Amino acid sequence: MAIKKVKKSISRRQKLSFKEASSGKMTRRKSNSSQRQCLQNLQLLNHYYPHVRCALNYETPYQLLVATVLSAQCTDERVNQVTPELFRQYPDPVAMSQARLDVVEKLIHSTGFYKNKSKNLVEAAKLLVQKHQGQVPQNLESLVQLPGVGRKTANVVLGNVWGIVSGIVVDTHVSRLTQRLGWTKEKTPEKIENDLMKIVPKDQWIQVSHLLIQHGRGPCKARSPDCSHCFLQESCPSAP
Ligand code: SF4
Repeated sequence: MAIKKVKKSISRRQKLSFKEASSGKMTRRKSNSSQRQCLQNLQLLNHYYPHVRCALNYETPYQLLVATVLSAQCTDERVNQVTPELFRQYPDPVAMSQARLDVVEKLIHSTGFYKNKSKNLVEAAKLLVQKHQGQVPQNLESLVQLPGVGRKTANVVLGNVWGIVSGIVVDTHVSRLTQRLGWTKEKTPEKIENDLMKIVPKDQWIQVSHLLIQHGRGPCKARSPDCSHCFLQESCPSAP
């Protein structure tokens, strides 16, 4: 379908939802061009990727925590290849807390940085058992105390498992696309997240990362973005 036609076909209801979001549901209103750009892009991203979700496979909060730790410097596809056997052998924090490091290292070797990741997984599991009754805590402050767990991982778990909105996940795709699209001029994940929290409607804080990651795996790749086939081309400041 032609891009112009698709833009017209975005339902009035969806437009209203964004109007409401931009007028009332933001934590801090920032009426400037980056906000307008962001809201306009979000409408199209939601339209083209209506069912996008977290690409990591998991069945429990703990498994998503583990998968997200493994996804650092690694593709979700690779993580999904190693987690079935890892979760079979170590399905929960109790099992992982008793794991032998060399066994875990072997299982996750292909995800890279396997020595650090293994150590973090075992130490984090011990902390979960000792301090949280073997459960994944449902707040950012406790999560970031776990070895190997930063704001990004904590936000992924809180948002995807419990719908708890505590921030915006900024990975390499989100970082690249938000700069290309003119949503932010910042370069570091913390500063980018800070900017995004001012312009993205709060009810989109979880979904926005999935949308941008999807688009970053599609036309807006790191090298050679395919701008001529991108539905954001018309409004993208980085388009040729
Ligand atoms: S127009 Fe190009 S740079 Fe802009 S979002 Fe699309 S692919 Fe990325």
